[in-house]
Amino acid sequence: MAHIAFIGLGVMGGPIAGHLARAGHRMTVYNRSIGKAKSWAETYGGTVAVSPAKAAEHADIVISCVGTDDDLSQVTLGRDGAFRAMKPGGLYIDHTTVSARIARQLYVEGESRGLYFVDAPVTGGQAGAEKGSLSVMCGGSQPAVDAAKIVMQAYAARIVHVGKAGAGQTAKMVNQICIGGVVQGLAEALRFAQAAELNLDKVFEAISGGAAQSWQMDNYWKTMAADNFDFGFAVDWMRKDLGLALEEARANGATLPVTALIDQFFADVQAMGGHRQDTSALVRRITRA
Ligand code: NAP
Repeated sequence: MAHIAFIGLGVMGGPIAGHLARAGHRMTVYNRSIGKAKSWAETYGGTVAVSPAKAAEHADIVISCVGTDDDLSQVTLGRDGAFRAMKPGGLYIDHTTVSARIARQLYVEGESRGLYFVDAPVTGGQAGAEKGSLSVMCGGSQPAVDAAKIVMQAYAARIVHVGKAGAGQTAKMVNQICIGGVVQGLAEALRFAQAAELNLDKVFEAISGGAAQSWQMDNYWKTMAADNFDFGFAVDWMRKDLGLALEEARANGATLPVTALIDQFFADVQAMGGHRQDTSALVRRITRA
């Protein structure tokens, strides 16, 4: 069992860190708003640290799941960042969805300090984090990813080493590009079925086992039909992620015309007040006939 420092105890990080505690690791936790760290420690045990550096100073492994590039930069390279305090040979695993650029930068910064860095974004949502069934896509060196896999098995059903540093983040962008198109298709299909005055449960029963089947259909058809958009991954996070994909496409020469359009559709949903609604809220901007 390892001494693990965990930074960022939000919707995803809280339950992920919980699985690590249950697996028997010695945990030190840090969160920007300290109340979350204290209530996590009341539930799972472990020690609360006052900064990422304090959390990391005696840890073998540091894991983060914060929000954005700026947040990740702050908790790693900032004045009280973990990189300053980690012991040479230490392993840093990051589960935040961020740019491939910062993942590559942290790999290089880590190398110069004798640290191993693995970019390891996740998919599977809040439910996957709580059940311990996340999929993790990893970028980094083989020994680092092999070491990371041993601890990540506590909360992941699938762990794939995609390639070198940054490849985990670019794979996550592929994931988000796929989701954007599918959710828009689903939203249009639902509005079409409503305009045709079909029984939506019967439509679902008829088509959800065939070629139109998708995770999005299985999880969102019925809640979308009920105008209920309170089920997980938020529109604000999706806009962040599509922005990362569009930025990466500018660098690698890929064209993403539909993704760019759907990003603008999500901006419409934000303007309608749907920042924290789930991504199926895309349907809200299509007028019901
Ligand atoms: P969240 O609930 O907002 O949690 C983020 C946590 O990180 C919060 O507890 C926050 O502290 C902490 N944090 C943020 N910036 C920090 C900083 N600069 N220093 C210290 N702590 C900081 O978000 P989440 O839903 O867990 O998502 C986390 C990441 O996973 C995001 O990159 C997201 O895109 C990705 N992701 C999310 C999902 C999902 O379904 N939610 C699925 C896959 C991937 P405070 O309490 O102070 O805000």
